[in-house]
Amino acid sequence: MQCWICAAPANGTCRFCGRAVCRQDAKLQSFVLEVYPADGTLYGLAVEDALYCGICKPRPEPVRMEFLDERREAVSNDTGKQ
Ligand SMILES: [Zn+2]
Ligand SMILES: [Zn+2]
Repeated sequence: MQCWICAAPANGTCRFCGRAVCRQDAKLQSFVLEVYPADGTLYGLAVEDALYCGICKPRPEPVRMEFLDERREAVSNDTGKQ
């Protein structure tokens, strides 16, 4: 496997997007493994120095899946007509 950035032999893959990167181009970024609720509060189990390619844009906040909402609305509209 080759580095996505410079095509040198890759030393690892980005934890976020899966691109292969060499040691020179690899960056470190905290990575949340798991989020779980406890006593009404959300806790995250995180790795602070996960391998990161520096290209992709992992978001600190969950992304709203609006297209899934639209699909669900469409399905409920269809059933309402019948
Ligand atoms: Zn490289
Ligand atoms: Zn990446």
